Amino acid sequence: MGSSTKYIFITGGVTSSLGKGIIAASLGKLLQSRGFSVTIQKFDPYLNIDPGTLNPYEHGECYVTDDGAETDLDLGHYERFLNVTTSQSNNITTGRIYNNVITRERKGEFLGKTVQVIPHITDEIKSNFYKLGQDGKYDVVITEIGGCVGDIESLPFIEAVRQARWDLGPNNFLVIHLTLIPYLSAAKELKTKPTQHSVKQLLEAGIQPDILVCRTEHHLPLDVKKKLALFCNVQLNSVIEAMDAESIYDVPLLMKKEKLDERVMTKLKLTSKTNTDLEHWKDFLGRLKNPTQEVTIGLIGKYVSLPDSYKSIIESFTHAGAAVECKVNLKLISSEEIHTENFKSKLEELDGILVAPGFGERGFEGKIETVRYAREQKVPFFGICLGMQVAVIEFARNVMGLKGANSTEMDPETQFPLIALMEEQKKIDQMGGTMRLGSYACDLKKGSKAAQAYGKTKIHERHRHRYEFNNDYLEQVENAGLIATGKNPDTGLVEIMELKNHPWFVGVQFHPEYKSTALNPQPLFVKFIQAAIDNKKVK
Ligand code: GLN
Repeated sequence: MGSSTKYIFITGGVTSSLGKGIIAASLGKLLQSRGFSVTIQKFDPYLNIDPGTLNPYEHGECYVTDDGAETDLDLGHYERFLNVTTSQSNNITTGRIYNNVITRERKGEFLGKTVQVIPHITDEIKSNFYKLGQDGKYDVVITEIGGCVGDIESLPFIEAVRQARWDLGPNNFLVIHLTLIPYLSAAKELKTKPTQHSVKQLLEAGIQPDILVCRTEHHLPLDVKKKLALFCNVQLNSVIEAMDAESIYDVPLLMKKEKLDERVMTKLKLTSKTNTDLEHWKDFLGRLKNPTQEVTIGLIGKYVSLPDSYKSIIESFTHAGAAVECKVNLKLISSEEIHTENFKSKLEELDGILVAPGFGERGFEGKIETVRYAREQKVPFFGICLGMQVAVIEFARNVMGLKGANSTEMDPETQFPLIALMEEQKKIDQMGGTMRLGSYACDLKKGSKAAQAYGKTKIHERHRHRYEFNNDYLEQVENAGLIATGKNPDTGLVEIMELKNHPWFVGVQFHPEYKSTALNPQPLFVKFIQAAIDNKKVK
């Protein structure tokens, strides 16, 4: 561990889904605004090695970093708030910890000793806690512990936090506990008991939280704060109220008002290096909350019943909408419900259409119908990953007359495999971590919509897919009017497809949504919204 690096641990109690990730990201933002370099990492208690093999219905989207790690969606919040990139080291699961320890055991590295949860698993957890702080790059490392205090599966993490205090020393170590103060409407009362109990559980594990952050729907009166301070053994000014906010992007300012950053700095003996007062952030919020125009955009996908499956896409619209002062009414539409008889009624109110990433056959034909509508009716179209692949297949079937054209993912026997596996992918028989993952370069065609959006011709974007455009068809497809405007300079793989004679029809094989941040909106999203605004005017 870097000797001057400060470590903040965030635990959660009472219930899950309290927004630990947003609190961590907001605190990170505030410390950043005071001149500190900050990174945030998440430790997840489940046994999967990473979330890459999880169905999106389990934990929402799988977020991909530049280095190709498949991670928890909270890392997306960290990047969107802090505007700095994360990596594989920022997300560790119990599965990975055990995998590392067991691999070392098989190599005989424990020299005949009995391998145990304490100290071997907890040592492995701690060495991962400290990894990002090692080279002195960060003044502060914030660690979010997934799950709730008291869960059986979180116990080794909590025990490792207890031990970390003694490795790091009191001035370099801080625990923030996030809880819920429920409001009983019948009794018209805010209840502190669940928080008292969850702090008791932490104390039983040997951890005294330094700061309590209390999620609440109503302001906490002084007597409630006093009660919490007394029973939970914390200073009164370290009971921080976290009121429900209109937007997650309000939370840094709410936490600043509550002086969360000041409490943290006092306890860790940190003094501000600068104070930027978050002007850019406030400017972003101002534009977000005062739109001068409005558009309706459809997100067509198959995981729409859980919007967290499309977290980064949804947030990208927030960032890009704010950039052009436009309110984006995003309608999530299930592609399974779209077919030849009803597509018009489902799609006609939309000013722009986005076909989402996805895997497998379910809802695929509804996506084909959607693209056909967008192409024929000249509605601005944005296809991401599977969305681009669908656009190619629709074009092959309905414009080039290649009946039955498909991706070999959906139909391995198709006569016209416009989307197919590359040789390297064919050999792979394991699921986890075997897709084309992470950041790849892409060269853009001068004058293309993509080049106009980015304002340059060399870009890097992140990937997460197995199948690729089949270059055997490239000439034929381009002659018919669908042009590859972005290619990987090393492999020649097609990264972007644009339709000629259409106001805005862009499909991308990569995932632009992963790199959109509040202060750095993704250019393709910005241009797509602008095209939707223009389309609305014509309508
Ligand atoms: N299923 C497609 C593939 O593996 C697309 C993946 C995606 O949309 N992320 O290539």
